[in-house]
Amino acid sequence: PACLYIVATPIGNMQDMTPRAIDTLKQVAIIACEDTRTSGKLLSYFGINTKSNSKNDDESDIKSDIKTHKVDTDKSDESADSNTESKKGHNKLWAYHEHNSAIQTPKIIEMIQQGYSVALISDAGTPLVSDPGYQLVQAAHAAGVTVSPIAGVSAAVAALSVAGLPSDRFSFIGFLNAKTHGRQKQLTALKTRTETLIFYEAPHRIIASLEDMAAVFGANRGVTFCRELTKTFETVHKSTLAELIEFVSADDNQQRGEMVVVIAGDNALQDEDDLSIHDELLQRLLLDLS
Ligand code: SAM
Repeated sequence: PACLYIVATPIGNMQDMTPRAIDTLKQVAIIACEDTRTSGKLLSYFGINTKSNSKNDDESDIKSDIKTHKVDTDKSDESADSNTESKKGHNKLWAYHEHNSAIQTPKIIEMIQQGYSVALISDAGTPLVSDPGYQLVQAAHAAGVTVSPIAGVSAAVAALSVAGLPSDRFSFIGFLNAKTHGRQKQLTALKTRTETLIFYEAPHRIIASLEDMAAVFGANRGVTFCRELTKTFETVHKSTLAELIEFVSADDNQQRGEMVVVIAGDNALQDEDDLSIHDELLQRLLLDLS
């Protein structure tokens, strides 16, 4: 039966695309994506045809289905879509983003129920991780549609894996509020969390955010700055917040590109110290007793 695939794509390095992702994107009738131009480039790089998927489906059927169901409210995609449509049947790429998800969700579910498998991709990494898709996956469950992950990269987990901070427990926070007041409020609520915290941040806000983090968490809190992961100018820098602010401020290049900020939990190191003190005390007591 038809199914909804949630497909991860690279976060920069094309070699992170999995063979399974390529196969799935080739096979599905529809690929729902955030931005049809961005995804169009990715798909053409991997030789994935975005025109009709006539191999497995009855082409005339799907053409009429898509004519009836397709709604593309993304203005910027209109010219691209109409070009390809007029040239060669239907376009396999459907825009699915923040602004049209309410309209597109039921249409995509209906297509799956009619027997057409759909893949959801985002501009980069794993869909639903600070990216659209939640509404669609929720609706799929509600409709009894099978949802299957085609697993791959996510910047959050890639950053955690190289951060050198405790990774047994962590929370993904994603993007903070764009304004200082809101940001500081969010950070204050996270101040005493003991697990490692993972943040996404935009380059033009990185210094302001790090300053707020230092103000709320303390300048000595441990942090690992992960920038441009998997790409040419990949940077992984582990320090304190105070040192990181200096490092990023001193070099404009560090304020460019895509970045993940991984912050040590509250008292992460002190907890470890406490444990070793307890161990030591216990050993002395045991020695005294014997
Ligand atoms: N869905 C994506 C994922 O699974 O990682 C995240 C999408 S979110 C809109 C984009 C943010 O992810 C960027 O602003 C940055 O914080 C982070 N990001 C994406 N690619 C990255 C990379 N190559 N290096 C560091 N951070 C990255």
